[in-house]
Amino acid sequence: MRKYMVAGNWKMNKSLAEGIQLAKEVDAAVEAAGKLLCEVVIAPAFLHLSEVSKAVGAKVSVSAQNCAAEASGAYTGEVSAAMLQSAGIPYVIIGHSERRTYYGETDAILAKKAELALANGLKPIFCIGEELSQRDSGKYLDVVKGQIENGLFRFSADEFSKIVIAYEPVWAIGTGRTATSEQAQEVHAFIRKTVADKYGSAVADNVTILYGGSCNENNAKELFARPDIDGGLIGGASLVADKFIRIVTAF
Ligand code: PEP
Repeated sequence: MRKYMVAGNWKMNKSLAEGIQLAKEVDAAVEAAGKLLCEVVIAPAFLHLSEVSKAVGAKVSVSAQNCAAEASGAYTGEVSAAMLQSAGIPYVIIGHSERRTYYGETDAILAKKAELALANGLKPIFCIGEELSQRDSGKYLDVVKGQIENGLFRFSADEFSKIVIAYEPVWAIGTGRTATSEQAQEVHAFIRKTVADKYGSAVADNVTILYGGSCNENNAKELFARPDIDGGLIGGASLVADKFIRIVTAF
């Protein structure tokens, strides 16, 4: 069964007290909303993961925003997949465009991170997406295909089935310029077909593919109504509980 998901990427925002407060607000709103059609995930900073985890109940999961590409050892400042696992964190975002752009994370590095995440029982939320010049040149499907092939196609079907893909066109992240639901659906359907060609249609039908890029409480419903859009990875709008919950309940 394909799972739907709305995940909030808090990035480098919120103090510890603010993060706990936001988590409690999200949790209360999720409880009040009753039965939801999607899984709800929030991704605070590493430092806040444990406290935020304690602030939410069973209906809200917590994700890290990143993990190290090495298993352990002399890597000052890094946080390993094993550490996340030992802290009870179920998800990790890997390959967000801000990591790719500002920290030089290549497909090869991201593949190692995904490998370590899976080996430690974490579920990766693996981000892909083209830059504006790549969209304008018409090459965006090739870019997305390359990111999937290089980052994820080393895994067995069983391993791959634990991965959530987030399609986030870089030109839509934090810009207020959302992909239209037609543009997003085109790429999501292409991603699902690419997965089907490699792993077969059963795996492809079940893979969760999120859209990210200026998704908000006003456009979520139209995006989520598309057949291959299984939810959202939400940046800015996840920092305000009311907005985030309106996205969660857009299903
Ligand atoms: C993101 O950073 O993953 C994201 C989608 O950000 P925003 O919603 O702010 O565009």
